[in-house]
This record gives sequence, structure tokens and C-alpha cells, in this order.
Amino acid sequence: MTEIHNKLAPGRVKEVTSLSNPLVKDIKALALKKFRERENAFLAEGLKLVLDALEAGWTIKFFIFAKSGRGNAVVEKAAARTVAAGGTVLEVSEKVLSAITRKDNPQMVAGVFEQRYRPLKEIRPAAGDVYVALDRVRDPGNLGTIIRTIDAVGAKGVILIGDCTDPFSLETVRATMGSLFAVPLYRADEEAFLSWRKNFGGLVVGTHLKGSVDYRTVDYSTGPVLLMMGNEQKGLPDSLAEACDKLVRIPQAGQADSLNLAVATGVMLYEIRRSAFPITGEI
Ligand code: SAM
Repeated sequence: MTEIHNKLAPGRVKEVTSLSNPLVKDIKALALKKFRERENAFLAEGLKLVLDALEAGWTIKFFIFAKSGRGNAVVEKAAARTVAAGGTVLEVSEKVLSAITRKDNPQMVAGVFEQRYRPLKEIRPAAGDVYVALDRVRDPGNLGTIIRTIDAVGAKGVILIGDCTDPFSLETVRATMGSLFAVPLYRADEEAFLSWRKNFGGLVVGTHLKGSVDYRTVDYSTGPVLLMMGNEQKGLPDSLAEACDKLVRIPQAGQADSLNLAVATGVMLYEIRRSAFPITGEI
């Protein structure tokens, strides 16, 4: 168990109204990456996100709710699930919840969860599977939007290569709208990624402004697909571009140099799905 968790015996319910309470200070500190890493934890705000996370089996450390949530059946059920899972329930004042979530009008509920990455070697790609690898993605909003899109198209996971923005920052978690809890996350430095890629038995498609292939002309149905997207400023470096079976380009008209990374990822994912394994969700 981590330092924060040890401050209370698991399963206890505690009322907290003071901003100087050490637990409040520790949970607020999760705004900093350094502290998130040390605690292996992160904050998710809002009842929907907390319920999505519990439903998907993520480990909850703290369930935090405002006094206004008292008597709300869904809030009480989530609190009971937290206790059953060994977590701690904090009933807090609005002032404390505002401080924790850094918002003037916070949602009624927040949760502190354990971070979760999976090892690359766990990936067993099958026909129809799509994975997305992001090289040094920097923008938290882009990463959150991409994770949400990966979820929407039913792709199997995202691989973060090198020094990426933290998927567990408040901004990224917000932007995923709950998809963070549904999309497996993998991370690797470039060397480990390239060594794993050698055994990826499918089509590896990189996107590049200098790509010679129109993205609509590729047959994505030959097996699993690994889609590689470049960094916002620099694009894919040669070392990663050379590891791709194909380098594709999305044609553009007008003056823009390139598409936004998250938009380009969305365009690619829907094309891969359209041409190979159409999404059958209801319209
Ligand atoms: N200045 C960067 C460069 O030269 O590559 C621009 C990077 S762009 C903002 C971020 C990523 O989105 C690219 O690395 C690529 O993966 C993808 N991308 C954006 N527009 C694209 C396009 N028209 N065709 C293919 N990929 C594109």
C-alpha cells in the first residue's frame, strides 16, 4: 500500500472539512506528475468516470463525495463498492472538493485510482485488431481525444513511445471522457518498442507528411494493424518511420501544413475500420 493509503485503515469512512487535512494535501498533490508516479495513483472527477472505472475493475484508493451526495443511491452504492474493494471513503465539504479538483463548481464525486499500464509482451494481435502507437505525444488534450477515439472504433490499445505526456494527468483523464478505463495502455522507450515491433505479425502503417501512399489506397484487412502517429512538432523520426511497412499521407487542400494529431488519428482509424472491419454499432 502507498503512503497516502496508509494514513487511514482501508475500508474506513471519514468526514473531512479542513483544507489542511494531510489526506486533502496528498490528494491535491496528485496534480503533479512526480507525485502521481510516486503514489502510482491519479484522480478522476465525476460520477460517470468513477462508475466507469469501478465497472472496468480499476483499483480504487479513495472515493470522495460532497455532502450534497449524501442519500444519493448511486453515490452510496459507489461508496459501498469502494469499502468492499478495500478503499477509503471521504465525505468532504464543497470547499475541500473544489480544492481537490481545482474547480470552482466541482462535480459531486471524485475518485483516486491506481495507475495501470500493461506490458507490451501481453499483446497477442489477432486479425481485425488495431493498435495505435504514439511517438512522444506532448499535448494532454490530444492524448485524451485519441484514447476516446480508440475506444469509439473498438481498437485494442495505445502504445506510448518515449517521453509522452502523462495519460493520468487531470487534463488527459478529463479529455478521455471515461475511455481511459476501457483502453489498455502500454508504454515503452523507442528501443524496446522497435524490438517488440519486429515480432508484430501484422501491417505496420506510419503516417507521415512525406508519405508516398494515399491512406485510402491501403488494404488494411490483411491482419492486425499497428498505426503509428508522430509527435506534434516533429512528426515520426526516421528510426520509427523505417520500421513501418507503409508510410501513408492524408491529402490536404489549403494552407495548413498538417492536420492536428488527434484529428489525423481519427481519420486513419475510421478508414482502417471502414475498409477492413466496419463498425457495426447502431446509427
Ligand atoms: N511538423 C510535423 C511534421 O513535419 O511531421 C507535423 C506533425 S503533425 C501535427 C502530427 C502527426 O499527425 C504527424 O506526425 C502524423 O502522424 C499525423 N499527420 C498530420 N497530418 C497528416 C497528414 N496530412 N498525413 C499523414 N499524417 C498526418
